[in-house]
Amino acid sequence: MKKIKVEEIDLFYLTSDDLLLLNSGQINIEDLSYRLKPELFNRDDVRPILVTLPLNPNPIVLYYLYWNNELNLKELDLKVAQNDFTENDFKASVITRSQKTRCSNCGCWWDTLAVDDWHYFRTPGLGTAKIRQSKFKECPNCGESLRQCVVMIF
Ligand SMILES: [Zn+2]
Repeated sequence: MKKIKVEEIDLFYLTSDDLLLLNSGQINIEDLSYRLKPELFNRDDVRPILVTLPLNPNPIVLYYLYWNNELNLKELDLKVAQNDFTENDFKASVITRSQKTRCSNCGCWWDTLAVDDWHYFRTPGLGTAKIRQSKFKECPNCGESLRQCVVMIF
């Protein structure tokens, strides 16, 4: 777990090694049982992060950074550990939350990552860019829009 500031946002960057730490209960994390998806800790396009809410240092909330450009995140893990990353490494990333999303057309429920764009309230232009660069998923069952900023279904 490494505290970094990137794109004007203070966050703790996590890797799969930190899963045990989260499960240990040493850090008080809001809604952890709902938000913790261990399968998201071992993906090539996602890294878990912890963020404190801007107006309230407690609680800490678990989110997921999702990259859309096949960046080598194992390399990025090393760069972050060594404080050797650049803003460019995060350009294709967007902060998302894990949520159950229901297709309003066919009623199917999906485990999804959805863009959580309020994190960019200090940098509204960046928030808009993040939305523009995102490709939103359709329902795998019926093909309709999920009508939410879902970037990944897992
Ligand atoms: Zn559907």
